[in-house]
Amino acid sequence: MPSVITEPQRPAIPVAGTNDAFPVRRVYCVGRNYAAHAREMGGDPSREPPFFFMKPADTVHVVPEGMTAEHAYPSQTSDYHFEIELVAFLAKGGKNIPVERALDCVYGYAVGLDMTRRDLQQQAKDLRRPWELGKGADHSGPVGPVHPVVKVGHPAKGTISLTVDGQVKQKADLSDMIWSVAEQVSYLSTFFELKPGDVIFAGTPEGVGKVERGQTMVGAIEGLGEIKLRVV
Ligand code: MN
Repeated sequence: MPSVITEPQRPAIPVAGTNDAFPVRRVYCVGRNYAAHAREMGGDPSREPPFFFMKPADTVHVVPEGMTAEHAYPSQTSDYHFEIELVAFLAKGGKNIPVERALDCVYGYAVGLDMTRRDLQQQAKDLRRPWELGKGADHSGPVGPVHPVVKVGHPAKGTISLTVDGQVKQKADLSDMIWSVAEQVSYLSTFFELKPGDVIFAGTPEGVGKVERGQTMVGAIEGLGEIKLRVV
């Protein structure tokens, strides 16, 4: 059937070292998955079940390695925060996936940022409103190229860091995650049928903070390279 509008483009993230791309279906994000970050957000880092929210799929876009991308400061905020995160890309899905089989679903991983209008997120929390205005700003999900599991395995330890103008703001180890990627996939699949193309932002460590126009962020994860963005 012909479309009455120009077909919207599905976001797709290049696979590192190839001409292939990973098309994105849904973007799930886990909240408070590092104990020290849970504490800095006023939470209790005990091992309660993880909680999830979603970002619109088209917030995710690639920042090619080796270049500085321009990142537009969004509207309606004066407290725009970085959150460096490990991002998992699913090539398989299912419902009620057991933890032991969950990693079989993962195609690859990338470095990503869950950019957040923190003032709007806080307002939403205070007013018991949904989080989309805080978490779903246009372009708020920059990621590096996808590194396939066949090349990099399943990163479970290694440094995850973010600098702003060369100053270290966030630095932790992937092993500090409260819930592993396998556990996140498994638990999430009890709420939603996961499908190929689904993407999971695995949570951010402590040290989140605001970034201003003119500043340059470098996010890195050991084994997955780095992404560099200048806020404009
Ligand atoms: Mn996050």
